[in-house]
Order: sequence, then structure tokens, then C-alpha cells
Amino acid sequence: MEHPTEKCRSCPAQVIWATTERGKTMPVDVEPGPGGNVQLVEQYGQLTAVVVPAHRAFGRKDLRMSHFVTCPQADQWRRR
Ligand SMILES: [Zn+2]
Repeated sequence: MEHPTEKCRSCPAQVIWATTERGKTMPVDVEPGPGGNVQLVEQYGQLTAVVVPAHRAFGRKDLRMSHFVTCPQADQWRRR
């Protein structure tokens, strides 16, 4: 499944913008990997970021990390 990517506003990384279940937009890392806990689900034509509880995310390699967590400029994100 291909998702449109966009450059992060704070660092050179490419991110996927998704909407959380609470209706907020969230940048998600493009590459899935161990330690990730975000599953991207297409719902009604909208990309939704579903956070998987830790006990269910354990050992999976198809989940992505929130770019809020991995961005080197994450401090700027939190301050906004
Ligand atoms: Zn970034």
C-alpha cells in the first residue's frame, strides 16, 4: 500500500500524514520497523493512524513510529 509522503517541517525526513482516531493530524515515519506502535488504516478514503497497545505491538515489524517521537526536532513539535 503506497501512502503519499511529505517532508517533515522540522527535519529532512519524509513522513506520512495521517489522522488519529481523535481527528488530529499526526506525522508518521515512512518506514515501519521494530518498536513502532502505529498502524495505518484506510477508512472511508482517509488515512487513519491507529495506535496499537504495547502488548499487541510487541514483536511486530509492520508498525511505524510516530514522527513526533523520532523527529530530531521533536522539542519544537511539543512546544507548538
Ligand atoms: Zn522531523
